[in-house]
Amino acid sequence: MKAIRGATTVSCDSAEEIKEKVQELLSEITRQNCLEEQDIICIMFSNTLDLHAFYPAKAARECGFVNCALFSSLEPEIDGALKMCIRVMLLVEKDILPKHIYLNEAKNLRKDISKILNIAIDGPAGSGKSTVAKAIAKKLNILCLDTGAMYRACALKCVSCGVSVTDEGNVAKIIEDINLNVQYKDGAQITFLDEKDVSEDIRKPEISMLASTVSAISCVRTKMVELQREIANKNSCILDGRDIGTNVLPNATFKFYLTASCEERAKRRYNEYIQKGKNVDLDEIKRDIEKRDIQDMTRKIAPLKQADDAIYIDTSDMEINEVIDLIIKKIQEKI
Ligand code: C5P
Repeated sequence: MKAIRGATTVSCDSAEEIKEKVQELLSEITRQNCLEEQDIICIMFSNTLDLHAFYPAKAARECGFVNCALFSSLEPEIDGALKMCIRVMLLVEKDILPKHIYLNEAKNLRKDISKILNIAIDGPAGSGKSTVAKAIAKKLNILCLDTGAMYRACALKCVSCGVSVTDEGNVAKIIEDINLNVQYKDGAQITFLDEKDVSEDIRKPEISMLASTVSAISCVRTKMVELQREIANKNSCILDGRDIGTNVLPNATFKFYLTASCEERAKRRYNEYIQKGKNVDLDEIKRDIEKRDIQDMTRKIAPLKQADDAIYIDTSDMEINEVIDLIIKKIQEKI
């Protein structure tokens, strides 16, 4: 069993606002801890004595928490304490590293955990960035956004609509209304296109080059960067891509640039495909990676390059765990 803490504040003692803020708090707690209602054993609230308009527990019941035990209580009056505050503790039956959530003025109660942490990992294909990003996200219990998957989904959409990825006019029309979103299940990203899980389809080798071509189109980048910033502004997360440190999040808390020799990167991709039972040719993968590197590094908009303030790591002769440990060490040195 795990305990998750949280708190929020309201601006006035109104039933409507108490309901709204309790709902916001619970939805953030469940979202960020990936909880289903059946994982929750009980939710206990306390609130400061200046709130009388509504029971927080009743607000929880009204917003759908109908099966778990709910309880509200009053806090003692403490000099100088935060006013109009609602505190919560959830007991959950799930093996997670709890993420405590503090919203509105209550952020000041836990300044240490209320700051959003954004980590940028950029680098060419096969540099190890996505494996490393996933492992670090798990260790730090934050989201991992694979931005390449989003460009891959754009390429897949063009293919399914029969539009060439070089036909900028028609690509623009498709991208304007693209129904693309990412969700997380047990920390893993699932990419949805038109409500369909395309996480496997976008990994096909033929989609890689198409993604690189479509990602050079201005309106595609504008739309994807907007979505990426939206996620990063709301969540502590690690983003892996090509332009995260230079363009998407120039103020990211940490920036890393991962690379490796072309031979090594091609070998890694080859082994990934072989492990998945795919029949691929090493030389072809190497040629593909070289071509994609050139295209990604020389495009006009947001080309792949190391941000001036990014930490450079050549992973050619490193085991993946060494890379992960090094990055975690660099992060821990600063926070
Ligand atoms: O990382 P991945 O190989 O999945 O990315 C596919 C393609 O998407 C890359 O070759 C690159 O052209 C593009 N991309 C990008 N900017 C990002 C992430 C990926 O242009 N932030």
